[in-house]
Amino acid sequence: MAGISKLTSGGLMVNYRCQARCGHCLYCCSPEREADYISYEAARRVFSRVKVLGAPSMHISGGEPFLEPEKLRRVLDAARDEGMPIDYIETSASWATDDEDTRAVLQRVLDYGVTTLSVSISPYHNEYIPLDRVLRLMGLCAEMGLDAPLWIDEFLPDMSVFPTDAVHSRQEYIDFFNRNYWAQLPPRYALYRMGRAVLTHRDDMPTFPTARIPHMGRSCAELAGRSHYHIDCYGGYIPPGCPGLSLPLDALGRELDPEEYPIYTRLAQEPRLLLDYCKSQGFVPGPSYYNRCHLCQEMRLFLYQKFPGRFRELAPASFYESILRERTVETDEEKL
Ligand code: SF4
Ligand code: SF4
Repeated sequence: MAGISKLTSGGLMVNYRCQARCGHCLYCCSPEREADYISYEAARRVFSRVKVLGAPSMHISGGEPFLEPEKLRRVLDAARDEGMPIDYIETSASWATDDEDTRAVLQRVLDYGVTTLSVSISPYHNEYIPLDRVLRLMGLCAEMGLDAPLWIDEFLPDMSVFPTDAVHSRQEYIDFFNRNYWAQLPPRYALYRMGRAVLTHRDDMPTFPTARIPHMGRSCAELAGRSHYHIDCYGGYIPPGCPGLSLPLDALGRELDPEEYPIYTRLAQEPRLLLDYCKSQGFVPGPSYYNRCHLCQEMRLFLYQKFPGRFRELAPASFYESILRERTVETDEEKL
């Protein structure tokens, strides 16, 4: 049996576009991602559906929700009109370039009764976002009475060794700390080895031989997950840590039909079943993978490319297109 019968608090991903292109980004967000931002009506549908399934509140995430503050207001209108409390809004602070403008945006958020921003920082972010923006946002939040916890604050001392008004490259971190600095980040970040992280860390994460990847015969508990899920700007339910795997809102709250959702239901039973299916369709596994999720992403990429449009669970298509595009760019750069 597979399906989502009940939900606790989760996140609404209002967009996939972001000013940054962090090397660890699970969802492969970037400035090149589609500009789509969830509409007022679509956000209401999400809030209404998850409420019926038991979610008492949600948080807002992206991409970067503050990329378009007016559209974020529409989402907050939708939450207010559906009676959905917003726990916090996630942001990278990339937009906090000016005191006055930032204050104005924060005041609007406060006017909706939202009192917490979760501010993401890490060396991955610092390749694209100067620390000054984070410090400005934290300072203004403190001044205006908003909570602004840092995720993950243990990186603040590392980031503070560099000038805070500029971005800093991977090489700068390696030169200052040590040559293994970047390779040591995944455990410090509790990184999901998925999405863009697979490209970023392809040379420095340990792998398992394909035949010995753990838990291939064990159900993915994540797929019955009631918490840590996201609903994206297309109304797709994304299980915790499974980017590119999506269920429409109307599939929530009922048992999934294996004919309709052959990928999701196989994975919910045991990922080995999906591997067997992919092999029967011509998939040739590589020699090793970081874990079963890495292999899962590769199998889904294979199915996405081999059967365009066949599997509605493989969504959004732009996730797969982004990985394929970025992989091509990396390969081309390596050839130079
Ligand atoms: S700031 Fe967040 S959403 Fe944007 S690229 Fe980085 S990790 Fe992804
Ligand atoms: S193997 Fe796939 S479905 Fe299972 S938890 Fe990992 S990414 Fe999600």
